[in-house]
Amino acid sequence: MPDILISEVGPRDGLQSIAPILPTTVKCAWIDAEVAAGVREIEVGSFVPASLLPQLADTAAVVAHARSHPGLTVAVLVPNARGAAAAIAAGAHKLTLPLSASETHSLRNLRRSHAQVLDEVRAVAALVAAQPAATRPHFEGSVSTAFGCTIEGAVAEAKVVELAEALMVAGVDEVGLSDTSGYANPAQVRSLVRAVRTAIGDDRLTGLHLHNTRGLGLANVVAGLEVGITTFDASLGGLGGCPFAPGASGNIVTEDLVFMLEAMGLSTGIDLDRLLRVRDVLRAALPGEPLYGFVPDAGLPLGFRAAA
Ligand code: ZN
Repeated sequence: MPDILISEVGPRDGLQSIAPILPTTVKCAWIDAEVAAGVREIEVGSFVPASLLPQLADTAAVVAHARSHPGLTVAVLVPNARGAAAAIAAGAHKLTLPLSASETHSLRNLRRSHAQVLDEVRAVAALVAAQPAATRPHFEGSVSTAFGCTIEGAVAEAKVVELAEALMVAGVDEVGLSDTSGYANPAQVRSLVRAVRTAIGDDRLTGLHLHNTRGLGLANVVAGLEVGITTFDASLGGLGGCPFAPGASGNIVTEDLVFMLEAMGLSTGIDLDRLLRVRDVLRAALPGEPLYGFVPDAGLPLGFRAAA
């Protein structure tokens, strides 16, 4: 097994952040090309009402296609039990339900308090538990705005720890931490990961979802590596960008992340040359959208060798 799992979230996080709606066939071609490059987990969409996110209205069809790739973990975002039921019916392997550490953010975006989101988590956990063991999806609770909120500002570490514990009690298999706002810095990543792991167990927090809004995305990855994180979300070409920070990618850029990890001797299972060529799919389908990444622009260093 490779050292690090990279979870490609572009088809969900990237596409929900841009106005154009990518046709289902193009989403499937994107997924196929990433799988061919060695990507083993892809968040392919979100089960939210189509009226809220028309970009992701075809998620069930995309899940059905993605499931045709043996060995690929097909992940989706679900905001509530209703979304989870649809995700399970479609055959998703992994469900992620976000719980915003900032209650103001939660009320404004999901129109739900922490207690109400935790009620949904319990309902989803019951749905998941009712599935036959062979097809039971993995259920992750993701603490979003964990490193700061664009409405509330600083988020207390103790609040994130409390919510991580509440998610575990409510029945998730695992907790993730999301820097939704791109506020995180490396010292904060080390500190928060340690605090949450101490509270819920090292094996219950293995993944980080980072944005590169302020240019600290890869520095935050290194901080995560230092405290034992082994899964990182990223999006091809940093699709989505940040409307308030021209030049800043959305999620951390998958291509740059793979380059950094492989150059550090950490295997990802991903063929970087093939991954770089996947950009052609997006460039052709989304001609107006900027694609980010330093490695794609600069090329690989002479003599670069991937990790063994
Ligand atoms: Zn995100």
